[in-house]
Order: sequence, then C-alpha cells, then structure tokens
Amino acid sequence: MTRIELELRVSDESKYSPELLRERLAGVREKIDGAKKRRDVEGDVALIGVTKTHPPEAIRVLYEAGLRAFGASYVQEWEAKYPQLPDDIDWHFVGRLQSNKAKYIADRVIMVHSVDRKSVMKSLHRRCEEPVDILLQVNLGMEASKGGVPSDEIEALMERTLNYPRLRVRGLMGMPPYRDDPEDNRHHFRALRETLERLRDTVEERDPYRAKLLTELSMGMSNDYEVAIEEGATIIRLGTALFGPRSYDG
Ligand SMILES: *Cc1c(COP(=O)(O)O)cnc(C)c1O
Repeated sequence: MTRIELELRVSDESKYSPELLRERLAGVREKIDGAKKRRDVEGDVALIGVTKTHPPEAIRVLYEAGLRAFGASYVQEWEAKYPQLPDDIDWHFVGRLQSNKAKYIADRVIMVHSVDRKSVMKSLHRRCEEPVDILLQVNLGMEASKGGVPSDEIEALMERTLNYPRLRVRGLMGMPPYRDDPEDNRHHFRALRETLERLRDTVEERDPYRAKLLTELSMGMSNDYEVAIEEGATIIRLGTALFGPRSYDG
C-alpha cells in the first residue's frame, strides 16, 4: 500500500465509522417520525439508503442496523458492489437509466424510479422475466441536467406503459433543484403529489385496477426530506444524511 492509499484508507475508516453510521440512521429515523406527525396524509415512509460512491462495508453497517432498502445510481458501480452484500437487500434503481443497461438490473431490483421514456420501458420490459415496479419521473424544476418529463406529459407517458404488461407503474418520482432552504422546494413536492392525484383520477375512469397501484411518491433527499414527507412522500432517498458527504460527486 502506498502512503496515499494508506491515508485514504484511514480517512475512509473514520468517515465511515460504524458508530457514526448508526447514529445518523437513528437521527434520520427520528426526523422521519417527526415529519410524519406534522402531516395529515396517512401511511408509512420507506427509507432508501442511496449508495453511490459509498463502500460495501458502510452499506453493511446500515444493513445490520436494520435498513433493508438501498438505492443504486450507476449500473457499473453497483454491479461491482452488490455481490459483496447480503442477498435479501431490496435494491432500487434511482439513477438515470440508459436502455442498453437495462439488462444488468432486470430481475435484480425491486423498483426502478427513473422511467421517463419509451426506449427504457421497452428494454426493461424485454429483459425482465418477472413483473417489476416502476415510477415515472417528473422533471420538477425543468432542469436540463435531470431526467423526467414535464408534469403535463405524465398521462401520455403512463399511456405508453400499457404496451408493457410486466412494468407495474406504482407512482411518481421527482427531484427538485437543490436549494439551501428546503422550504423553497415545498411547492415542487406539493405539485408532484397533485400530479399523482390527477393521474390516478384519469386512470381510474378506464382501469380501476391500475389506478389502485398508483400510491407511491418518491421525493425528498438529504437536505429536504422532512418537507417532502410533510407533503406526502411515501419513499425518501437519502445518501449524505446516512453515509456522510460523497468524496466525489456524480
Ligand atoms: C444521489 C441521489 C440521491 C441522494 O442524494 P443525497 O442528497 O446525498 O441524499 C437521491 N436520489 C437520487 C436519484 C440520487 O442520484
């Protein structure tokens, strides 16, 4: 090991100390409970630990502390990590998916959060032998750097999924712009909830069974999840709040 490698490893060890990871998880759980009490929507909030850039050892500490749902953002990075981890983890794919990568996640993840176009639906469907839950992604702040369709195109996107019977649309995912003050994103979270309600009403008229499946709102990240929960999030995706800062971002 070179000196640089040694230094990296030492800093990695303190950064991912098991006590710190367990403390962060407990703190997050408390904040989730607090935010749930402040809202009038019923129902639970599923916590997903977003693992990008973080090592398997750190993921395992949170697993052993009881967390079972983890998120992957990059196919290749995840492929190298997940075989080293317990096989009863519920993996969610939360990153941008390219159609040619669908084969690597098919039948290995329980939910794909980022479906926003036909080519992805098509290749995912072709590669999946089992039905898979998906969320349709809305581009809340209309940022070019983020995936998703404008909210007024969500009905059309839903319509397209009808060609792919093994894709079960369970709801919507959205990622508002980064804001220092999470209150500035409250209107985005509310808008996503309203978009889901509108979509459910539209689908209900023709297909009550499909409408019943539309229950999930994946919204809220480390800096704004409490506001997202207050506005009705059913799934939050946290990286930094659990694992600490990422050493490189991407
Ligand atoms: C990285 C990432 C997250 C987690 O971000 P944090 O701000 O670290 O909590 C959530 N969702 C997606 C899609 C991500 O890529």
